[in-house]
Amino acid sequence: MADQKRDYYEVLGVERGADDASIKKAYRQLAKKYHPDMNPGDAEAEKKFKEASEAYAILSDPDKRRQYDQFGHAAFDGGAGGAGGFDFGGADFADIFGDIFGDFFGGGRSSSRSNGPMRGANIRTSVRITFEQAVFGVDKELDLNLKDTCKTCNGSGAKPGTSPETCRKCNGRGQVLTQYQSPFGMIRNSQVCPDCNGSGKTIKDKCPDCHGTGYISGRKKIQVSIPAGIDNGQSVRIRDKGEPGTNGGPRGDLLVEVVVDRHPIFQRQDMNIFSTVPVSFAIAALGGEVIIDTVDGKVAYNVKAGTQTDTRVRLRGKGVPSLRNKDIRGDHYVTLVVQVPEKLSNEAKELLRKFDKETGNSLEAVKNAEKDTTVNEEKKEKKKKFFDKF
Ligand SMILES: [Zn+2]
Ligand SMILES: [Zn+2]
Repeated sequence: MADQKRDYYEVLGVERGADDASIKKAYRQLAKKYHPDMNPGDAEAEKKFKEASEAYAILSDPDKRRQYDQFGHAAFDGGAGGAGGFDFGGADFADIFGDIFGDFFGGGRSSSRSNGPMRGANIRTSVRITFEQAVFGVDKELDLNLKDTCKTCNGSGAKPGTSPETCRKCNGRGQVLTQYQSPFGMIRNSQVCPDCNGSGKTIKDKCPDCHGTGYISGRKKIQVSIPAGIDNGQSVRIRDKGEPGTNGGPRGDLLVEVVVDRHPIFQRQDMNIFSTVPVSFAIAALGGEVIIDTVDGKVAYNVKAGTQTDTRVRLRGKGVPSLRNKDIRGDHYVTLVVQVPEKLSNEAKELLRKFDKETGNSLEAVKNAEKDTTVNEEKKEKKKKFFDKF
């Protein structure tokens, strides 16, 4: 049997020379992943959890680690199942699980807690809004299925006139202790009682309205005020609109994720807005006003004479407000794109040719260059002939 066991370092995925902190860290990760509370009914996970716990029990103890390094699994064969087994319930384990469950249950539900008041779970939903609504904020009404305390039984789940009884499986503690036999002794682990789901109470005569759950689901309209400046993917938290708590605990929260529609012309990056605006060749060359769309409406902008295409200008304070202070706003950056005229009348073409002649004669440039080259070629040719004579 000992031969089939995996190497403890391999189990934890650490180097042989790993220090205590790395070993602890590796175990924490594995324990989180494979803990039975996280994987109810998963035998493979339970096996992995036990294997990792065993490896950690050895490698976290300097004496045992030394023995293991020297003799391998054989170091502990004698103790298997016998009096030589050691205690897994050491202080270090408690410490580790405290950490782990602190992470998982946000303090509301921990493996050591019994059937005290428990905060309800948070509910997540999403809402779709337009680009402008994200910039300026909007009030939305959500239509949600929410659980409410059953009025018939006041949330106890028991038929009126009766009351819930103390759970026999856990004696009202809401937790049951499970034990794993390992070659080194027992691994004890506390779990939420499966009979009463941690409430510590069982109901014999169920409330007819809520079927013993203590709450009733129904469509509810919830108002959500989405603040100016919110961005795609951010959430608004509405306190106490989540799942009801148990045993008098507070409700969880409702988290509304905001999905912002794409805008046909505006793009957003944090607090800044970006767009492109076409500018005619005449305005780019001579200067003049163009109309620019902003989230505040149309704005006249004075384009400077001699503006090149792809020039970026800034409209201060026309961007997105800060979520924290809506008086502080980002900027709107506009890229001016100079347009080349496409459909020209004959008259316009003629004017453009005249214009060209006046401004560098680009239309004739190649022809002129070729003429020059020919002249040069002729000169060269003559020179060559001249030298050839010698
Ligand atoms: Zn009820
Ligand atoms: Zn119970």
